Amino acid sequence: MTSLHNRHIKPLILAGLDGKNWHLQDYVARGGYESLKRILSEKIPPEQVIAELKASSLRGRGGAGFPTGLKWSFMPRQFPGQKYLVCNTDEGEPGTFKDRDIIRYNPHALIEGMAIGAYAMGISVGYNYIHGEIFAEYDRFEEAIEEARAAGMLGNNIAGSEFNFQLHAFHGYGAYICGEETALLESLEGKKGQPRFKPPFPASFGLYGKPTTINNTETFAAVPFILAMGGENYAALGKPNNGGTKIFSISGDVERPGNYEIPLGTPFATLLELAGGMRGGKKIKAVIPGGSSAPVIVGDVMMNTDLDYDSIAKAGSMLGSGAVIVMDETRCMVKSLERLSYFYFEESCGQCTPCREGTGWLYRMVHRIEHGQGRPEDLDMLNAIADNIQGKTICALGDAAAMPVRAFVKNFREEFEYHIEHKHCLVPTYM
Ligand code: SF4
Repeated sequence: MTSLHNRHIKPLILAGLDGKNWHLQDYVARGGYESLKRILSEKIPPEQVIAELKASSLRGRGGAGFPTGLKWSFMPRQFPGQKYLVCNTDEGEPGTFKDRDIIRYNPHALIEGMAIGAYAMGISVGYNYIHGEIFAEYDRFEEAIEEARAAGMLGNNIAGSEFNFQLHAFHGYGAYICGEETALLESLEGKKGQPRFKPPFPASFGLYGKPTTINNTETFAAVPFILAMGGENYAALGKPNNGGTKIFSISGDVERPGNYEIPLGTPFATLLELAGGMRGGKKIKAVIPGGSSAPVIVGDVMMNTDLDYDSIAKAGSMLGSGAVIVMDETRCMVKSLERLSYFYFEESCGQCTPCREGTGWLYRMVHRIEHGQGRPEDLDMLNAIADNIQGKTICALGDAAAMPVRAFVKNFREEFEYHIEHKHCLVPTYM
């Protein structure tokens, strides 16, 4: 476990934001658009920008954790036709709420990051796909785009250079599945938002069948800071292979839920302390460390785990999007899993049988256990259904539905067995 005693917890993307200073002039006063202007005025070769990203060890902040510099290097530079850059602000998983804060409080960091990405990959058109259930943030982002255009930071001849980049906001419809990158592209094209078979991957066959790079909001927003401080310096903020800072959305049974940007590799215990500790001084029971699809971890284990991709994987879960859901001793694990299972059942797009049928089956079984009608063989059956979903579907939603089931049953089996045997909850002060 890394000690933070001598490390400085200093945010980058969320630094100095007060809810009002989101305008372009505020961003510029904080040093904003300097990275983009420097790249363009010094005509820094695109390959050098990508090399800086690789040196930063920035990994995709949307959940998959794929190295961003490597992803950008996949874009065919010499492609003769239109290429696209897409930002995924379709944040809809339970526990996630960081991207909407970025476009609400620091939208120009995202715009600058996308413009730098467009320059590095030779792209002239970009879209930001914003979740359909957030409205004020969509309007805010539209306003920020207008400000950037008026200031010559978007459009033609950006900052007096020969670089052109048109950026548009697109308001989605609120389906969770549209956060899956190929479903997002389908939706952006005006079709039903259902995931595509992969391959081909968006880098070769993306929006309108053209090469497309898709990154998460936080990933793009980190780019100007990386270019300003240098890739190696950014990497040094975190741990090897886990460079830089990350925004963690902590929710659940803590005193001060919210977004906290801290270096990757920070102990979970430090984040919990930043969030004011456990609400009412209760004992920690369980933590879902990376959005609702990440396997649940027993509280005591989590208290000794660092918040980075590799440490969380070692503890048996995923860092995902950094949405940390904390549950105290009064939480019923059967009820919690019932709620999660219902979410995936509700959000399945229905294209593939294991997911369409399996998510409903999982939900109905957990519902049955929760309501005192479970049978002893149900727990093995839950695992068997999860086995028959995971890895057998077009997109990762199937896995996302199966993994929590397995982890809840494995880590809290005695609670499920108690429910089945006694027809009610084991937790004394059930809420
Ligand atoms: Fe749709 Fe589920 Fe198949 Fe994904 S796994 S394509 S959400 S049915």
